Amino acid sequence: MAQAEKSETKQAQALHAPILMKRAEAEVIRALRKLGKISRTEVSNITGWSKAKTSQEIRSLVGKGYLVEVGEGASQGGRRPGLLRINNQLGYLVGLDIGATSIDMVLTDVGGNVLQRCSALADVRQSPDEFFSRCSELILQMANAQGCHHDQILGIGVGVPGPVDFSRGVLVAPPLMPDWENFLIRDFFQHTFPAAYVVVDNDVNIMALGEQRAGDGVGVEHFIFIKIGTGIGSGIVSNGKVHRGSIGCAGDIGHICVDKDGPICRCGNTGCLEAMAAGPAITEKALQAAKNGSSPLLSQMMEANGGFLRPEDVNAACREGDQAALEIIRASGQMIGDVLAGLVNFFNPSHIFIGGGITNFGNHLLVSIRRAVLRRSLPLATTHLAINFSRMGPEAGVTGAVALAREYLFVIEDQPFVIV
Ligand SMILES: [Zn+2]
Repeated sequence: MAQAEKSETKQAQALHAPILMKRAEAEVIRALRKLGKISRTEVSNITGWSKAKTSQEIRSLVGKGYLVEVGEGASQGGRRPGLLRINNQLGYLVGLDIGATSIDMVLTDVGGNVLQRCSALADVRQSPDEFFSRCSELILQMANAQGCHHDQILGIGVGVPGPVDFSRGVLVAPPLMPDWENFLIRDFFQHTFPAAYVVVDNDVNIMALGEQRAGDGVGVEHFIFIKIGTGIGSGIVSNGKVHRGSIGCAGDIGHICVDKDGPICRCGNTGCLEAMAAGPAITEKALQAAKNGSSPLLSQMMEANGGFLRPEDVNAACREGDQAALEIIRASGQMIGDVLAGLVNFFNPSHIFIGGGITNFGNHLLVSIRRAVLRRSLPLATTHLAINFSRMGPEAGVTGAVALAREYLFVIEDQPFVIV
């Protein structure tokens, strides 16, 4: 069977993996997803069911272990109503955020409460078999530490640093790890975790989702999350939902051209934003400044590092007042800001959150990004526009990965492609 065809089949099968429920049960779960806790009267009001039918459905859901009673709500004049919520002990979820050089993961209950954490150095240039075998081992270690059997893991959300065909859950032409193209990440994990539904998304999309669920993006309907690190990418939240586009590569702004005569990008084109302004471009320019004598401080650092410079060295030089380092950081900020200005005119977000390793660069970078956006965007688009660093750090990725796994936890039995 062709690989793509096999994957389609697997997707249909995989959607049966999480918890199957009847349509009526799904109505209660949907309400709970929105409200967190709910009384029987509220269920009855939302669904339009009689008291008797409401009681019967709730009894069934409690009996199956999907819901639990959690104390009493405020009295509306009579007896205080008993409240229900989704049973967090139903099983476990895993959020896995894969970076170019690191893995961050958490094990949570189905309510998303973090029970175990694990971070490790990693190298995506490894073969996908090797890389994901190690991920499986680390997940099993977290599960063991929690006393959780591998069959109790009901969902795994995975963020990967490359373009993802979201419906198939595979990477397509990933510049950082070409060997991973079309590797069936979902199938791989389901081999070890048969009860889990595995959802794969781009790393920046999961960061945007994390920001929306637990960061300053809570309640923000339209925002852009931009990640600046080894590469540059963005996640778009539109009308409160991650906008992935027709296939899944919406937001891949790192390859917007800012200078046709610029350096060759890892995508093969010239002068992409990423090639001009991300971490490697910053260190390359700093090396030039160190070698051509325009920055004695960067020269010293380069010699001390054995001929190399890291982005954090450029940052440190900038903090010491080094003019060349400051100019390099400002130039990056301006290029990123110029591209963002176009996106602001096009999409009209109310917030831009900036994350990724380069956020350590602090105010100089932020100020130059803001300045460029304000200078080049339409006045109406920037009237209420806030541009800030995300305060979530590495939490954004794992939080979003768990949120993604949670979204796919419940499926209606006769509508296997509709998530609850
Ligand atoms: Zn490119």
